[in-house]
Formats: sequence, structure tokens, C-alpha cells
Amino acid sequence: MNLLYDKKVSCPNCKIDFTTKKPFSTRLKVDKIESDNHKIYKNINPYIYEINVCPQCGMAFGEKANTKLNEDKIRKILDYFMNINDFNKYTSERSMEDGIRVFKLALHIASQISEPKYVIAGLALKVAWLYRELEEAAMERKFLEISYQNYKFTYSNEDFESVGYQKYFIIYTIADLSRRLDYFEDARRWYGDLFALRSAVPRQMMIKATDMWGDYKEEHNKRELQNQPIGA
Ligand SMILES: [Zn+2]
Repeated sequence: MNLLYDKKVSCPNCKIDFTTKKPFSTRLKVDKIESDNHKIYKNINPYIYEINVCPQCGMAFGEKANTKLNEDKIRKILDYFMNINDFNKYTSERSMEDGIRVFKLALHIASQISEPKYVIAGLALKVAWLYRELEEAAMERKFLEISYQNYKFTYSNEDFESVGYQKYFIIYTIADLSRRLDYFEDARRWYGDLFALRSAVPRQMMIKATDMWGDYKEEHNKRELQNQPIGA
């Protein structure tokens, strides 16, 4: 069964139309969903096809990232266009490494053109997921940290609700990230904020969060106990 089709897209930078491979959404099979909404797929990994890379100029963009470019923003990413090479292979089948690279390109552009922090946070989270799939823990952590810092900024400074993000969803994501990064005091605060919103939070999410926090707290306390000096 063919899992990929050619999708026509337009480059927001040089405006050419090109086709790029995308997985058929109806043929995706989810095996497992992790606590931070990372989906593990059985047959094909759609994340690695999420970002489009223009075969003519190298612009990396997705449906939510880097789609609005004006003259001023283009000037800011000129260096990027001059230095990126071998970008014209990303319209065909991709490896995991390709998927990671194009997310990083999109992330780089997003920060150059000052995209909202939730765009940067979302891109960084996906890079972390791909590193998790490759079992590269240090790199996963590096990008979880970028995602965490940017979601925290979003929560206090950005109008994320106007673009469709729910407050509980942002808090849930920050809580899960602080747990994964093992920032215990932060996790306590964010799970506390989430539990305070109880009535607004979907039931399944609430159950998942309660389990995650409970297990983490227990594990953390056990660790603390082991680290105590003997006789204390
Ligand atoms: Zn282009």
C-alpha cells in the first residue's frame, strides 16, 4: 500500500508551487499516545513530513509555522538562504534524520522572523519527540527545554486563546514538560494550576495528569529519601 502522495504547496518566500510527499492521513495507524501527546505510529511517521522545504530557495515552513513572510522578515533570513545547501531533496521520501533537520530549519527561521513563542515551542517539542524515537536522550532533553521555556513565555505573555489553544492545554503541556525535565517544584506548581481548573479540563486529560503527577511525586520522594544521609 502506498502511504505517501504528492501534495502541491506554494513557497511563502519565492512563491513557486511545488509538490512534496505527505502521508495519507487515513492510512496512519497510531500505536500509542504518550503523555505529551506524542503519537507513535505503526507504519509511517507523519512528523517527518510535516515541514515543507522549498526545492528552489530552501524555505522551511509548515501549516502553522513561517507561513507569513514580508520583505522585512525575508531580509532577516537572507543569511539562512545563503548558507543552507542540499535542500532540494526534501520533497521526496525522508529519513528520521531528514525529518529532524527540516524541523530544525523551520525552528531557525521561526526564531529569526520572531514567530510567536507557541510556534517555536511546538516545533521544538516535535524535534524532541523525534530524538525520543531515536533514543537520543540528551538531544531530546535539549529540545524539551526549549519547548518548555517557550510555552512558559506563551502562557504569561501571548494571546494563545485567539489562535485556538485552550488554557488548560497549555498548562497541561507545561506541567508534563516540567515533569519530563525533572523540575519538581515547577511540576508541583503547574499540576496544581491544572487541578485548580478541574471543571474546564477534559476528563481523560485530568485522569492522565493525576496519574502522571502521582507517580512522579512518589518516585521523586523515594529518590529524596535515598539521598538523605544515614541517621538523618
Ligand atoms: Zn521558495
